[in-house]
Amino acid sequence: MQTLDLFINGKYEAPQSGKYMEVVAPATGQVYGKLACAGKDDLDKAIECARDAFQDWSMMSIANRSKILGKLADLIEQNLERLAQAETQDTGKPITASRTIDIPRAAANFRFFAGAITNFSTSAHVEEGIAINYTRRAPLGLVGCISPWNLPLYLFTWKIAPALAMGNCVIGKPSEITPYTATLLGELANEAGLPAGVLNILHGPGAEIGDLIVNHSEIKAVSFTGGTATGKLINLAAASVFKKVSLELGGKNPTIIFDDCDLKENVNEFVRSSFSNQGQICLCGSRLLVQASVYDQFKELFLAEIKKIRLGDPLDPKTTFGAVISSSHLIKIKEFVHEAERQGGRILTGGKSFDGDLGGFFYEPTVIEGLAQSCQINQEEVFGPVVTLQPFVDEEEAIALANDVVFGLACSIWTPNVYRAQRVAHKVTCGVVWINTWMHRDLRTPFGGMKSSGVGREGGDEALRFFSEVQNICIKMA
Ligand code: NAD
Repeated sequence: MQTLDLFINGKYEAPQSGKYMEVVAPATGQVYGKLACAGKDDLDKAIECARDAFQDWSMMSIANRSKILGKLADLIEQNLERLAQAETQDTGKPITASRTIDIPRAAANFRFFAGAITNFSTSAHVEEGIAINYTRRAPLGLVGCISPWNLPLYLFTWKIAPALAMGNCVIGKPSEITPYTATLLGELANEAGLPAGVLNILHGPGAEIGDLIVNHSEIKAVSFTGGTATGKLINLAAASVFKKVSLELGGKNPTIIFDDCDLKENVNEFVRSSFSNQGQICLCGSRLLVQASVYDQFKELFLAEIKKIRLGDPLDPKTTFGAVISSSHLIKIKEFVHEAERQGGRILTGGKSFDGDLGGFFYEPTVIEGLAQSCQINQEEVFGPVVTLQPFVDEEEAIALANDVVFGLACSIWTPNVYRAQRVAHKVTCGVVWINTWMHRDLRTPFGGMKSSGVGREGGDEALRFFSEVQNICIKMA
């Protein structure tokens, strides 16, 4: 049994209340550890320590801050195997994904922002003989970073890295479902030379410690990634005190496949974008919109490609598809599929759970067709390995279907015709659009959703701007 404690002022400690909760490994369904549940007293202590640490950290030279964050990136890489094992235990995702995607990307987040802060610039405007205006960007002070369970260390560090680079002190709250790698990060932060109190990690249920963080008057901004319903609560709480928020929320992303697309060449990408991480990536395409003239051909190729997915034990390096996150999530996925069937959907493959002889929470990659756009599963986020197929006749219909949801996170468009691709890209209401690719990430680019998929943008300078306060200074010229 692992005990995962809080990380406050550079030390691991038990919660003052003595309260712990169970942590379950999704692949086995077994409890593997107990997690400290932080309360108000723990938050107050973390705030006090972060307040003390802020003075020196925010005044440290950019070069030195950058060096510490770069060292942390190195240490994540040096501890790759240990972190990957922990991530797979917590999430049930294939170990190969943890080794090649999640943990390397966490290291890349620190390395990227260690560099980005050294290039970050502000502006100056000269009115010759009259005045000079220059802008200054100062760290906000103490900020909250709240992250979800699907890409635990990757998304936690995606927030922490720019916040720290900008000179803020962080109160971090990883998902209580997947707290293991975030806990290990504390130890690596110490080894990298991050001063005590600069990064504090508080665990526990979102409705308890998450809510306390959001409502604390000394926390100047909250960067949140998670569900749209939680995002709404956070936005409401923050509005009353004019707290800055960045909200990265859910999606119901369309994959638009035109009839001139080379289906054979790209079918593995359609499967990857549908079922990576068991469909539990906010960016996964969950609605495949296929031009009617190639619909049958597409279906045949897609179903054949799905057969190549290796389901099973996440610790087996050959596995490409592991467990879903929890028993309650598995129930939710099953309910979505039952409702889709009730509404007239035909299951083409999947539609059932399996336990891989491990006792955990597994659900097969599932494809459903024959549903109207208004059906529940074409409107609401499943966040699991379930996609629907819908035919469309022309560009206009594809755009209409793509946009007919409350979400607006990501879209991928598949056609060699760049004029058509651009026309469609400019008309879909999604913050992220890929053309003939999926989930290609360049950390310099803005990332975030439109409509109910979020408020604000992360990535590159957008993140550094979010984690700073801008001040304009005007000097009269002689
Ligand atoms: P969630 O909203 O349940 O939880 C996210 C985090 O918020 C957790 O750490 C949780 O403890 C905390 N939390 C819960 N209630 C809170 C409250 N009242 N106040 C403060 N914090 C609270 O989401 P989840 O189930 O962990 O993650 C799945 C969701 O995240 C999906 O909707 C998915 O689309 C979304 N997501 C979005 C992105 C993106 O970049 N847009 C990326 C990954 C996941």
